[in-house]
Amino acid sequence: MKQDFLNALERAQQEKNMSIDEMMILLSAQEGEETGALFSLANKIRHKYVGEEVHLRGLLEISNYCTRNCLYCGLRLDNQPLVRYRMTEEEIIDTAYRAEHHGFKTIVLQSGEDPYYSTDMLEKMIAKIKKETDLVVTLSLGEKDREDYKRFREAGANRYLLKHEIMNPLIFKKLKPDSLWRERIQCIAWLRELGYEVGSGCMVGLPGQSLSDLAQDILFMKRMNVDMVGIGPFIPHAQTPLKDEKMGDLTLTLKAVAVSRIVLKDINMPATTAIETIHPEGRKRALEAGANVLMPNISPVENRKHYEIYPNKAALDLEEAKKLINALGRKVGQGHGNRMKRN
Ligand code: SF4
Repeated sequence: MKQDFLNALERAQQEKNMSIDEMMILLSAQEGEETGALFSLANKIRHKYVGEEVHLRGLLEISNYCTRNCLYCGLRLDNQPLVRYRMTEEEIIDTAYRAEHHGFKTIVLQSGEDPYYSTDMLEKMIAKIKKETDLVVTLSLGEKDREDYKRFREAGANRYLLKHEIMNPLIFKKLKPDSLWRERIQCIAWLRELGYEVGSGCMVGLPGQSLSDLAQDILFMKRMNVDMVGIGPFIPHAQTPLKDEKMGDLTLTLKAVAVSRIVLKDINMPATTAIETIHPEGRKRALEAGANVLMPNISPVENRKHYEIYPNKAALDLEEAKKLINALGRKVGQGHGNRMKRN
């Protein structure tokens, strides 16, 4: 192992604050001994701060309509061939009942940016789910006004996922031409102020992204004191302008998961579907490199193939998730799986 890697690993072991340069050294770990040592340290830190439980979040993709045109995303407005669907309020609430019945403690309502669901409708749905179940409600509905976030929170929503995607403002502008970087960051700050548990995250292997960008992404999430971190590889989708770009690398994605655990410590972090999509053991390997959450898909089966942010999305149902957790000698999370310690 190289000396500069050993020095950075030693500081990580001592739980010192990591500089951008040290994070970059860890992200550059050579495959083999170095990555082995990095993943093993991340796994130990995961064990120390969040224990052996793997929390299950039921992911319900309520609509694949989107008004935006992110260059990397299959749900983009200009992807005309995509079959679009939307769930009704009744279908969403029924699925929430079923999720609770099957033992989920959290439901994640996710969609593209779809104005069909008004603030009133969403507020009503959230309040009903909260009143009639014991589920934690996580929203992942994109950028909204502060007042909307406030109303959802007051209706009972507990968590909100809004990935910052990439901190490099130039790449952000190129890849998200109809979003503004500072507005997205503002949304994340509002969510924190309003008392949500906030999830952010980034993609690994975006065109033009450097290791320094990736380290900045992790540092940003540390500075924002986010509660959840979602990291997945960039996967080119054939019906997007990035169709010919190179796919994100598995090992670098796992290194980003590990460094996020080392830097952010007590966060909840899923082994993402995107990692499994690029490697048949991706989820398992992410759970061994710092991840502690799985998100089985609870969307109606006929909708799943149309929620195609990227192609050939790996499926995960509840039973497979439990099998994986048991195979790793870990435990299925019994409680709501909130972030344990929040500063
Ligand atoms: S990344 Fe989100 S906002 Fe952008 S096109 Fe896809 S669903 Fe819409």
